Amino acid sequence: MIFVTGGAGYIGSHACVELLMAGHDVTVFDNFSNSQWEATERVQRIAGRTMTVVRGDIRDVQALQSALRASKAEAVMHFAGLKAVGESEAEPLKYYDNNVLGTLRLLEAMVACDVKTLVFSSSATVYGIPESLPYREDHRLSATNTYGMTKLVVENMLRDLHRSDPSWSIGILRYFNPVGAHSSGLIGEDPQGTPNNLMPYVAQVAVGRREFLNVWGNDYPTPDGTGVRDYIHVVDLAIGHVKAFDYLKTREGCIAVNLGAGSGHSVMDMVRSFEAASGRAVPFKVGPRRAGDLGAYWADASLAAELFGWRVERGLDRMCADTWRWQSMNPDGYKGEQ
Ligand code: NAD
Ligand code: UDP
Repeated sequence: MIFVTGGAGYIGSHACVELLMAGHDVTVFDNFSNSQWEATERVQRIAGRTMTVVRGDIRDVQALQSALRASKAEAVMHFAGLKAVGESEAEPLKYYDNNVLGTLRLLEAMVACDVKTLVFSSSATVYGIPESLPYREDHRLSATNTYGMTKLVVENMLRDLHRSDPSWSIGILRYFNPVGAHSSGLIGEDPQGTPNNLMPYVAQVAVGRREFLNVWGNDYPTPDGTGVRDYIHVVDLAIGHVKAFDYLKTREGCIAVNLGAGSGHSVMDMVRSFEAASGRAVPFKVGPRRAGDLGAYWADASLAAELFGWRVERGLDRMCADTWRWQSMNPDGYKGEQ
């Protein structure tokens, strides 16, 4: 049994599908602050298996402990948290409360229930400004915003915890840019309000919900001047979690591993691929650089290949095609279904 915090969210829901398909039992624990119950129904429909879903907040010590104990989990996958960089700058305490205090409460509950295997959702943002590319796991760590700082604080907390008790098995997974959706078109990213991220914004332009894409800068030192990121299909990312758990269940330690494709694509690459996948135009206007943006970064993905036997299998075309299927089947996200 795997206990999945934030399992109703974008990445967590895809991870639940892959866990169920790999034969694991799953308990989701989510407060639905950024997700819909419907997502958990659809996960079970795709996998053809049931899972337990508990509505609760990781900062609610009693609710968390009793759900974890009842689940008899052997491991926790911890996706629950807040992730909007801009909001984290405006409301830092909310981010420390949810991401740092929430994780602390989760670790305490794990100690109380004697569960010592954890997979944690970290982010490439902990590398801060690149000193060398691609980012390797031993790159210096720093944070350029409050969201990134909460990930860094949790990473440090996990390393300290493991040092104090080496019987823990902890996988810190540093995601690059997750995009795409399940090939069924039933689950995908369902951003509330105006999307900040490139792929959901492009998808909403293609479907006609927004007039044009703002390209934030075309004067970066990249092949076409637009920003370059390492996009990873969310299903590849989800499979990476199953493989990480397979690795951790027989080994003690605390390891940090990049989950990325190992190569980058520009904003214009994304626009062109999305137009091809959708058969729709994606009008755009070039604007100034977005404050705080880095020009280009991508992962050295070799450690995940070496340790987990994992590498990405789905390229940019597939990321766009699957996003388009999800977007056109669910133009208003999960809320469209009543
Ligand atoms: P998401 O918002 O879709 O999912 C997070 C889930 O956690 C939601 O279902 C939300 O309701 C739940 N949640 C939030 N606070 C909670 C709390 N206090 N108690 C219980 N549940 C709570 O986000 P996502 O994109 O699926 O991201 C999952 C994790 O991966 C996050 O920790 C995020 O920081 C990390 N991450 C995401 C990205 C990305 O680009 N999506 C990149 C790197 C890292
Ligand atoms: N981007 C853009 N227009 C948008 C959103 C993003 O041009 O509306 C660019 C952004 O400048 C960056 C890339 O797309 O170069 C990826 O941005 P995203 O916010 O998805 O990811 P992050 O910057 O957090 O890696």
